[in-house]
Amino acid sequence: MRQVLIAGGAGFIGAHLVRAILARGDRVTVIDNFQTGRREALDGLKVAVIEHDLVQPLRTAPGRFDLVFNLACPASPRHYQANPLGTLRCNFVGTDSLLSLALSSGARMVQASTSEVYGDPEVHPQPEGYPGSVNPTGPRACYDEGKRAAETLCAEYHRQHGLDVRMARIFNTYGPGMISGDGRAVPAFIAAALEGREIPVQGTGKQTRSLCYVSDTVAGLLALADGEGLAGEVFNIGNPDEITILKLASAVASACGRPDLAIRFEAAAVDDPRRRCPDIGKAQRVLNWAPRIGLEDGLRRTVAAFRESARLMASVS
Ligand code: NAD
Ligand code: UDP
Repeated sequence: MRQVLIAGGAGFIGAHLVRAILARGDRVTVIDNFQTGRREALDGLKVAVIEHDLVQPLRTAPGRFDLVFNLACPASPRHYQANPLGTLRCNFVGTDSLLSLALSSGARMVQASTSEVYGDPEVHPQPEGYPGSVNPTGPRACYDEGKRAAETLCAEYHRQHGLDVRMARIFNTYGPGMISGDGRAVPAFIAAALEGREIPVQGTGKQTRSLCYVSDTVAGLLALADGEGLAGEVFNIGNPDEITILKLASAVASACGRPDLAIRFEAAAVDDPRRRCPDIGKAQRVLNWAPRIGLEDGLRRTVAAFRESARLMASVS
């Protein structure tokens, strides 16, 4: 039985990862400050929970671990831009603390990085070797540059100290457990469609994303954690099925049984990447991993979960 630490384990992807690790029979400790994560996401699970803001140093080691995952960082632009300095510090100070903890524990670490390190990419689709095109002073930089600095920390802990740390550049992930008000496209579109409102599309809607269902992302993180000889390596984890935001809006409306709903166009987000699609050749070849759940199936499952949580909310109020 391995001891696994999951920073950010109360968040959307984190809570799915916690369940997957428990299902393997390992012990899980979660560190989270509940900034965007929810305590209820861990209800009924046998996990140790440490409430701590990783912007503050870890004064005492929370235990010894075999494996550390760092998912602690708000992921929605609305959330990470609410306290930009906090986001930067979480990525730098928090990642540094966890790397240091992994080193002293003799643990392996998996860093949740992001496709945002590619910024508004000039290379399409994006392979891991593409260094990116990021505006360092724009409103997304607290996240993009924070995650880039976190990758640099990981690379140097590996080079300078020999730490076995791997980096997952996660592309847009969706699924049950997302919070409907977090501002990301999938939950915003589902919430609008279920309430019969117009779908709020920012900009022209011609920008693209490539959406990965959460169980596929978690399977990718586990494959990355399990692989041998991957210290210091970076992998794209995402679904290469690229779609415009307008098409996503209509796919969500259909999945909600409301294909008739109109689009409401809003101002474009500043520095919004125009295209995003992962090259997952390396992950397929080395990790033997590829996503399995297509968009229609994933949206159907996500909409069912949103309907169920709306029903539960209504029954307690
Ligand atoms: P999320 O916001 O739902 O979860 C983040 C978790 O980290 C929450 O539980 C939050 O409370 C916790 N957290 C935030 N700041 C913290 C701090 N200072 N100290 C301790 N805990 C803190 O986000 P998510 O969608 O689950 O994303 C998880 C990770 O994956 C993030 O690092 C994110 O950057 C990365 N990622 C996510 C996506 C995606 O599409 N969801 C894409 C790329 C990368
Ligand atoms: N978006 C949108 N309406 C919304 C939320 C987002 O049109 O209510 C757009 C957003 O401008 C971006 C895309 O959808 O072009 C994906 O946004 P999201 O916040 O989900 O992810 P990210 O921008 O971090 O990839």
